[in-house]
Parts: sequence; structure tokens; C-alpha cells
Amino acid sequence: MTSYIPYGRQNINQQDIDAVVAVLHSDWLTQGRAIDRFEQAVADYCGVKYAIAVSSATAALHIACLAIGLGEQDYLWTSPNTFVASANCGLYCGAKVDFVDIDLHTYNLSIEALEQKLDNASKQGCLPKVLVPVHFAGQSCDMEKIAALSQQYGFQVIEDASHAIGGKYQGNAIGCCEFSDLAVFSFHPVKIITTGEGGMVLTNREDLYEKLIRLRSHGITRNPKLMQGESHGAWYYQQLELGFNYRMTDIQAALGSSQMQRLEEFVSRRRFLAQRYNYLLQNLPITLPHQHPDTESSWHLYVIRLHLDKIHKTHLQVFEELRQADIGVNLHYIPVHTQPYYQNIGFKWGDFPKSEAYYADAISIPLYYGLSKEDQNRVVENLRGILT
Ligand SMILES: *Cc1c(COP(=O)(O)O)cnc(C)c1O
Repeated sequence: MTSYIPYGRQNINQQDIDAVVAVLHSDWLTQGRAIDRFEQAVADYCGVKYAIAVSSATAALHIACLAIGLGEQDYLWTSPNTFVASANCGLYCGAKVDFVDIDLHTYNLSIEALEQKLDNASKQGCLPKVLVPVHFAGQSCDMEKIAALSQQYGFQVIEDASHAIGGKYQGNAIGCCEFSDLAVFSFHPVKIITTGEGGMVLTNREDLYEKLIRLRSHGITRNPKLMQGESHGAWYYQQLELGFNYRMTDIQAALGSSQMQRLEEFVSRRRFLAQRYNYLLQNLPITLPHQHPDTESSWHLYVIRLHLDKIHKTHLQVFEELRQADIGVNLHYIPVHTQPYYQNIGFKWGDFPKSEAYYADAISIPLYYGLSKEDQNRVVENLRGILT
């Protein structure tokens, strides 16, 4: 009898539960102080000025795009090797979306491909307004180069750091926004820390912060200094733009603050398990994850690539045999441009061949805080049996 090993899962302890229960007994279930505390904890950890908690990373990406003024006629570029939300946020704003193919070492968007595409776009007068680099699996993109290109070509940068809270780039926490305008985290249960559903936008720019706060809550302000004309009194608010209800509840924020206290422990366990995989899997016909020396991944995912020429099985067969052994492998990601919705707006198979080659042999194997060494050994032994 073996039990099912998922590819990822949350870890909730008694401290987390107590934090949620305390909010349930309090006066504020939403729009209370627990939100401020969670935002402050993340901002302090990342070394960034402003943090705005929202209902999901998808909402965070949407209002981040709106805050920088992305609109019709504008272009948003991102990686095809991501969850659809990194691209959809551009479409929500009426903008056009395009992709930059990946680097086959890091699986992040390729800086060489980006340089080439920017050069072409500048000749054709269709430069992007915003680039959304995705820190795939928790490993940072080359942000210093991206920042230099953003200066040269005049685009803004929103880091999709959904995988990456707890990771570092050049020794600083991902989310510090040293090389970007904004960064976004996700707190979905498969990510590094969780609030059930939830996300956050980080920035050092006060102008963006003011806008994000309004966009999170209907475009409304209660600050008389921002109003047109005089305030009518204590009850008064003004809607200055079209916003949303993208608020996080205090129940979620209390869980988030409690999880933040456990972040270092979460990431160090993931790092330990990743290193252990590196060691245990070293002689199999697979490519192990590459780490750039400038980065310290948060290890959201552990992705292997099968050397299909050396294995007498297909990608699908390996996948199914692992699933039959109750090992919940997954595939991150189906290249976004190949989704039917994106094909309907003009993309096709063949457009971003590196992300497609990666998709043809990549597998995410189980990695999460609570993965025991015994279960990890079971993953390794099954892989060995299937591949050799
Ligand atoms: C999970 C994820 C998102 C969306 O996060 P939600 O909080 O579920 O909206 C966006 N981008 C990437 C890269 C993700 O992994």
C-alpha cells in the first residue's frame, strides 16, 4: 500500500490555524489591520517600500498593468513558459500580447531573444510598453540586463514572481524591485506560502502605490487631498477611476502573516530536497535544473527533462507510469501561445520553438515542504525503474 505523493502542497500548522481563528473572533473580517500587518511583513522581508495585498496574483497582475497605463494599442511581452495569467493581464487591459522564447538552461525568457526582438520591434515602431519576466520555478530572471534594456528601449517591468517569494537575486530578496517597476507574488496553495487564494503587488514608486490602492477597491479614495473639489464630510468618498473589488480578507492575511514567519523554514527545506534530488538523480538520462550563480531559487518546482533518445519510452508513457505509481507529476507549462484562445488570436505551434521543445520532454516531480525523505526516495526509485 502506497499513498499518493502530489507534486506540491501547502503546509498548515497550529500557529497558522490559531492566527485565522483569532481574526474570526475579531471585529474585522476584511479591510482591517491584519491586511496592514501582512503587507508590512512582506515589504520588510523584501526590502521594498510598498506592498498591496489582493485577492490573487491574477488580480495583482491586472492592476499592475493598469497602474502603469497599459491600454489599447500597447504591447505586453512575456514568456510562453508560464501560467496563462502572466499574458491574460495584458488582454484584460485591451492591449496586445506577444512572447519572448525561453533560455534552455534556466527556462526563463531568453535575454538574447529579448534583445533581438526589441531590436526588430524598434525598427518597426512596435516596442512593448511592459515586459513581464516570470521567475520560473523560483529562479530569478537576469534582472540587471532586463533593467538595462528597459532603459534603452523605454518599457516598464512587472516581475511575475508568483513562484519566487523567498528567492534571491544578486543577494537581495526577489520582490525588492531594484530592477523593476513592480513585482507580483501568488499565495495559491501550491506556491511557497499560502493564503488560500491571494496575491500581492510590490513597488518602490509612490505614484503606482496610490493607483494600486484605488484600483484594488473600485477606484475609490477617501483621501481629501486626492479629491476633485472639497470633501462633503466624514462619509464622503470619490470614485476617481474604474477599479475592482480585488481585496484580500483579513482571514487570509492572518494566515499569510503566520506563513511569512515560516518562509525561511519552507525555503530551506525545499532547497535541501532539491539538492538531495540533484544528488540522487545524477546518473539518470535526464537534465537536472540549472542554477545561475546570481540566483538562489525558492524552489517552487523541480523540473527534469527526459533524454528521449536514450529512453525507449515516450514522454507521455513516462508521465503515465509515474502517475500509476501514485506519484503526482505535472507539467509546467503548456506554452501559452499554443492554447486555443491564443491560437484564435493568431499564434501557432512553431512560433516559440524552444518553449515547445521544452514542453515535449519536461516533467515537474514532487517538491514541497512536507515531502519526507522516504517519499522522495520513492519518487527517485520509481523514476530509476521507469527510465533505465
Ligand atoms: C500561480 C501563478 C499565477 C496566478 O496566481 P493566482 O494567485 O492563482 O492568480 C500567475 N503567474 C504564475 C507564473 C503563476 O505560477
